[in-house]
Amino acid sequence: MSGTERPFDVVIIGAGVVGCALARELSRYQLRIGVLEKNPDVGYETSARNTGVVHGGFAYDIGSLKAKLCVEGNRMMGNLAKELDFPFKRCGKVLVGNTQEDYERLLEVIRQGEACGASNMHMIGEEELKAKIPGVVGKFAMLSENSGIVDPFLFTIALAENAVKNGAEFFFCREVKSIAQEEGMWRIRTAEETFSTRWVINSAGLQCGKISDMLGIRGYRIIYSKDDYIILDKRLGSLVPMPIYTVPSNTYMGIHVSVTTDGNILLGPTAEDSDDPSHYAVAQKNIDGLYKAAMELWPNFSRADYIRTYCGILPKLADENGKIQDFKIEIRDDLAPRAVNLVGIESPGLTASVPIARYAIALMMERESFAEKESFDPVRKGIVRFAECSEEEQAELIRKDPDYGELVCRCNKVTKAEILQAIRSPLHPSTMAAVKFRTRCMMGRCQGGYCQMRVAAMLEEELGIRPEEVNWAREDSPLFFGKVRE
Ligand SMILES: Cc1cc2nc3c(=O)[nH]c(=O)nc-3n(C[C@H](O)[C@H](O)[C@H](O)COP(=O)(O)OP(=O)(O)OC[C@H]3O[C@@H](n4cnc5c(N)ncnc54)[C@H](O)[C@@H]3O)c2cc1C
Repeated sequence: MSGTERPFDVVIIGAGVVGCALARELSRYQLRIGVLEKNPDVGYETSARNTGVVHGGFAYDIGSLKAKLCVEGNRMMGNLAKELDFPFKRCGKVLVGNTQEDYERLLEVIRQGEACGASNMHMIGEEELKAKIPGVVGKFAMLSENSGIVDPFLFTIALAENAVKNGAEFFFCREVKSIAQEEGMWRIRTAEETFSTRWVINSAGLQCGKISDMLGIRGYRIIYSKDDYIILDKRLGSLVPMPIYTVPSNTYMGIHVSVTTDGNILLGPTAEDSDDPSHYAVAQKNIDGLYKAAMELWPNFSRADYIRTYCGILPKLADENGKIQDFKIEIRDDLAPRAVNLVGIESPGLTASVPIARYAIALMMERESFAEKESFDPVRKGIVRFAECSEEEQAELIRKDPDYGELVCRCNKVTKAEILQAIRSPLHPSTMAAVKFRTRCMMGRCQGGYCQMRVAAMLEEELGIRPEEVNWAREDSPLFFGKVRE
């Protein structure tokens, strides 16, 4: 359906985890909802480039939205994971210390957490720490039992798919170029269309300042913090049952050794200010620095365990002195009526995404009441993962669908049936990265060396496109160009 046919009630700019949470939460009401995203799929920017930790809510200023919404997000993650069928583990997390000063600081973190509503945090001694995480270096730790890990790709996809099920419409490859208020409506222009809407929401992540300016709310200062990581092979995953952090300062969590829901270990992040929110390259010096720092915390890996690096960038809202500010979630009736402005949604934006959405909707409902939709269905089912089934279940899957009997990705044991389901899934994804995020295909040790060409061939066949039209992730990222021979 074209965006120009009839006006929307709400247009959300940006389909990261927060935009998708907004779409899903708004789809509980009788509203026509559109989501405009410049990339060909959801969650291609910061929401796919983080640590995937469900934070406990103890690391933020007392009384801040970051603390409040993080604690709420932490509490609701278990139910959300059940409703929306995405991987989440409440595995806990440790903050490891060695000196008396560290000990005092960790006690302070517990006090701060409790004042913010976080719970189940306590100190453990060296013996208990090492029984929980063999090989960790540290004399004691603060254990946060409520912390956990989530698959950030599948969490975002699940929110979006559930929103679609409940009537929201996603428009990909639509970069918002300008916004104007005309005759009581917002007119949002992309390169080829104009979307009209009563309400607009700025959920543009790294571009939040730019969209805020377009709405007429000018002057926010955004600092980009560039964070590099190394990913290790799953071989070691079982040795790190929960994320291992150092003692945090007020502004930086420090380099940690974390683990994904699939069992890959993450070493990171560096934290460097950057002028360019699209510069994702990882410098060798940072890889060397991460190796050294992680070795001091958990010296049980070698460089041979590296499978790849990645980088994520945080949009931090700063005051005129550079001091980092709380999440800004506002409606400025004086400057931009019926526009919700989300600025500086940095960490813990993943944990807090659904509470952020509910907070924003509460602001909207102070100004207009939305009728609930009786047909709202909160449940979404994901793709059944062959590798995680018992032998009996696998046999049954193959009996029902022989494509489950054909392994495409050997590292992560992903079958043809799963890849086809991903390509045919509700958001109609069209890129290699979309298949990767939905299935874990090409995420293993060989990073697609074995299966990438087969996935490309399946995309070509399913979508009826030529090899040169297969994109890796973005519109202009062809997998093939030129010819080896004429
Ligand atoms: C290194 C790192 C580690 C982190 N670790 C954690 C963690 O462990 N736990 C946690 O809770 N949080 C973590 N975070 C924070 C979390 O990832 C973010 O807060 C969250 O993903 C923000 O989501 P978002 O939807 O606001 O932004 P994004 O994911 O950036 O989404 C914004 C979307 O807007 C789109 N967009 C931008 N401009 C336009 C335009 N003009 N037109 C159309 N679309 C547009 C973008 O393409 C993008 O898809 C981490 C972040 C980083 C960088």
